[in-house]
Amino acid sequence: MGTDTVTCRFCAAPLMHEVVDLGMSPPCESFLSAEALDQAEAFHPLRVLVCDRCWLVQLREYVSAQEIFGHEYAYFSSFSTSWVEHAKRYCVAMTERFGLSKDSLAVELASNDGYLLQHFLPLGVPVLGIEPAPNVAEKAEAIGVPTLVEFFGRDLADRLVAKGKAADLIAGNNVLAQVPDVNDFVDGIARLLKPTGVATLEFPHLERTLAGNQFDQFYHEHYSYFSLLTVEKIGAEHGLVLFDVEELPTHGGSLRVFFRRRDGAGPAPSERVAEIRARELALGYADLGVYRAFGESVARTKRRLLSFLIEAKEAGKRVVGYGAPGKGNTLLNYCGIRTDFLDFLVDRNPYKHGRFAPGTHIPIHPVEEIDRARPDYLLIMPWNLEREIRQQMRHVGGWGCKFVVAIPEVRVIEPSEVPA
Ligand SMILES: [Zn+2]
Repeated sequence: MGTDTVTCRFCAAPLMHEVVDLGMSPPCESFLSAEALDQAEAFHPLRVLVCDRCWLVQLREYVSAQEIFGHEYAYFSSFSTSWVEHAKRYCVAMTERFGLSKDSLAVELASNDGYLLQHFLPLGVPVLGIEPAPNVAEKAEAIGVPTLVEFFGRDLADRLVAKGKAADLIAGNNVLAQVPDVNDFVDGIARLLKPTGVATLEFPHLERTLAGNQFDQFYHEHYSYFSLLTVEKIGAEHGLVLFDVEELPTHGGSLRVFFRRRDGAGPAPSERVAEIRARELALGYADLGVYRAFGESVARTKRRLLSFLIEAKEAGKRVVGYGAPGKGNTLLNYCGIRTDFLDFLVDRNPYKHGRFAPGTHIPIHPVEEIDRARPDYLLIMPWNLEREIRQQMRHVGGWGCKFVVAIPEVRVIEPSEVPA
């Protein structure tokens, strides 16, 4: 950080190619109090780069992980019903597939408020959460999930193994992206695993991010973005074999990759690994072209969303944003959408109520505020939860309100339309 030559956080090659420049924005989980509105706010470049040696797509670490996650953190996983369900299915499936029992240990990295590990408790599998943000870790402890308030890496892995806490299963959901030192983190996973242990990592699949025009997946809290090709390379560097992979619908299309230790006995890589690897190669994920084409499709989305909003406002319509997820702030800041276009945002997370979106200063209210304000359009910010939100909010059709999503394309949806 702070030097002129930017190098790849995995392979240290100089970074010379831009994927997209999303302008300047503040850290997207820094929701502001009313008093903070009168103060200066730190904006950092949101410039996405790709390494032409290992194809890791990445941002510079403008904002340190300590600044983002090491204190009060606004994101509580349990506020998304569908995400908690996803976590529950995972725990049941892993317990069956890998024969976890009362003699096993399941560890989650960035365990948040215990939304996942809690589901191992009724299955009789001992758990350990690792979560750097004390306020969310506290919620996990309260529901019976033992949680260490620390950042994970080589050092913590070694200390845990020394205490007899090696893992049969390590889960890392949407954490790999948030790790500034990816080598230290993945090495820590290799060290914490028992020889027969399995680590699963979930992350938005870069192929879906680029093909689906999901530019709001890029924000300062996410330092890295992965293809299968690249994550396999990173694992191999640290003695891990990527032996299976699943494609999941979560977060706009994710991969769940399965790693085991190369020095332990275990299955050979599955057919599915070979398939996705071949598909990524065929699509050009080890080539510059696919990365270069992205910028223009992002700019086009910005123009279309602004055209829609300008037309709606000129016609005297009221537009409200549903959801204030971190990624919503990338979209709002990049497009320059403030209270001139959106009256307010609503969110289910009470932590955000009475606060303001970073950069754009749009106020955030409880969901019930929609029924009082009766807007004409509801812009769904977390488009990956579109179905869930349309079902929860279908009553807004009662006063003629319509839904709008911006990604992958700007689209207006009648509430009567059955969710796909
Ligand atoms: Zn690299």
